[in-house]
Amino acid sequence: MATKMKVRKGDLVQMITGKDRGKRGRVLEARPSERRVIVENLNVAKRHTRPRPIRDSSRMGGAQVVPGGILDKAAAVPVANVMVVCPVCDNATRIGISEKEIKGEIVRVRVCKREGCGQEIDR
Ligand SMILES: [Zn+2]
Repeated sequence: MATKMKVRKGDLVQMITGKDRGKRGRVLEARPSERRVIVENLNVAKRHTRPRPIRDSSRMGGAQVVPGGILDKAAAVPVANVMVVCPVCDNATRIGISEKEIKGEIVRVRVCKREGCGQEIDR
C-alpha cells in the first residue's frame, strides 16, 4: 500500500510550489506508481507542433496529416507539490485518515487536518 496516494482523481488541489503556486485545479488523473497527478489548468506546457504527415505503408496514397498548432498539455506534477483543498473550510490542507463505522463496517475516510475543521474530504 506504499504507493497509495491521498490525492485522488476529482480532488480539488492547490499547487504549493513553482510558477503555478497558489493556483487550484481538479485532478484529472492520479498516477500512484509515479506519485504524480495531472491537474487541469496547472503546470500546463505549451507544445508547438508542426503539421506532419503520417506515413502509412499499408496503404497507397492518401497521406494523412496531423495538424500543427499549439497544444495546451497539462504535465504531471509530483503529488508532493500539491495539497488537497478541503471542501468544508476551503483551505489547502494536509489529509488525515480516520476510521468510522457505516452499517457495521469500519471504513477509512479522508479528513481535513486543519484545526477546527477535521471534516471528511469525501462527500
Ligand atoms: Zn477543512
